[in-house]
Order: sequence, then structure tokens, then C-alpha cells
Amino acid sequence: MSLNRNQVIVLQAGYSHIDATDASAMRANCSCTLIRCRDGTNIIVDTFTAWDGEHLTSLLAAQGLQVDDIHVVICTHGHSDHVGCNYLFRRARLHMIGSCASKHDLYLNHEGALDANGEVLVEKTPGHTLSCVSVLVHNTQLGGTVGVCGDLFERCEDVDDENIWLTAGSENEKSQAQERYRMAQLCSFIVPGHGPMFAVDELICAKLKQLAEKYA
Ligand SMILES: [Zn+2]
Repeated sequence: MSLNRNQVIVLQAGYSHIDATDASAMRANCSCTLIRCRDGTNIIVDTFTAWDGEHLTSLLAAQGLQVDDIHVVICTHGHSDHVGCNYLFRRARLHMIGSCASKHDLYLNHEGALDANGEVLVEKTPGHTLSCVSVLVHNTQLGGTVGVCGDLFERCEDVDDENIWLTAGSENEKSQAQERYRMAQLCSFIVPGHGPMFAVDELICAKLKQLAEKYA
């Protein structure tokens, strides 16, 4: 299948909140995103928990895809709610957790382009974990660049309330604040790790710049 634009499809927006019956526990699952590249490469970014295999399979079926149609699996980082269903994709040419790529028992490092057109790229965005990556998708059906950022952003609301991303865990707050601003400058839309995709406007960019300066 050849496309005019790269398609970014959020199969399911992530969430994270305190459990309804146990205030000391959390409920969380990741945003799971399908990227259908113009060159025919199909990429899935973040694969839910290990208990979501049938659900993820059905979300792909709704897009007319089977698990064997996925060529590259990318996990923005190694936490269990982002890597759980990697096992479904045994026909993929590459599995990546952060910038660590593997196939079977072969391990290599990968950054940069994943598609033949050089429009879909893996970039290191350390902060939430030191090995976090984001996926930049240029030339999308949305008319701008989309950043699939994992937990660099918890959800849109964390732009106004830094406690949201700080309490979600940050291995390097300074780096995270800087990477958040850098990605906002590059992207028209951001898919955060635990919320719906949001548009980046000048106000959001200004707030992220201010915070990057505060942590500098
Ligand atoms: Zn997460």
C-alpha cells in the first residue's frame, strides 16, 4: 500500500490515575500508536501491558492489519506498560526498547530513520528514563510533524502542572524539561505516554520554554 502522507493513528490513548478502591495504587496503561509510513512500513509504538494481547490484536484488525503486518516495534522506554505485547510481533524486522534494537538474539543500536523516505525517525529524549526515545513523524496526514513521545509527556495537562510529570517519575528532571521544549519546537502534535494526542501551540511552547529555563 502506498500513501501520500505518513499516517499516525493513536490506537488507544493512554491513561494514569489513582485506583478507585485503593488510594495507594495506580491504574495506568500507555498510549499505543500505529504509524503507517508512505513506503509501506508499519510501525507500532508502545504495546500496552502483557495482558492486552487480544485487545491490541483487535485494535489492529480494526485498521485492517494483523500482527504479522507490523515491521517495527518501538517502545519509548522499558516500563512494563509500554513493552507488554512485544511478543505478538514475531515477524517484525526490529524490536526497539529505547535506542536498543534487537531481532532474535542479535542486538544493535539504532537511532534515526526507520522508513525509506527518512521521514520517521527515532530520537533520544532522556528524562523520564535516561534511555527514553521519541518517534518523530514528518509529512503526516495531520499536516505537520507528530511526536510520539512516550512519558516525556504524561498528558497534555502536565504542561500547566509540572507535578504531573515529576510525580510520574523522572530520572533526570533537567534533561526532561529541556527535551520537552525541544520536542515542542519540532512538533505540531504530541502523543503523550498516558493521554490523548494534543496540538502544540505558541502558548504551550512558551510554557515549556519557561520550564526548560527554570531547570537549566
Ligand atoms: Zn508509562
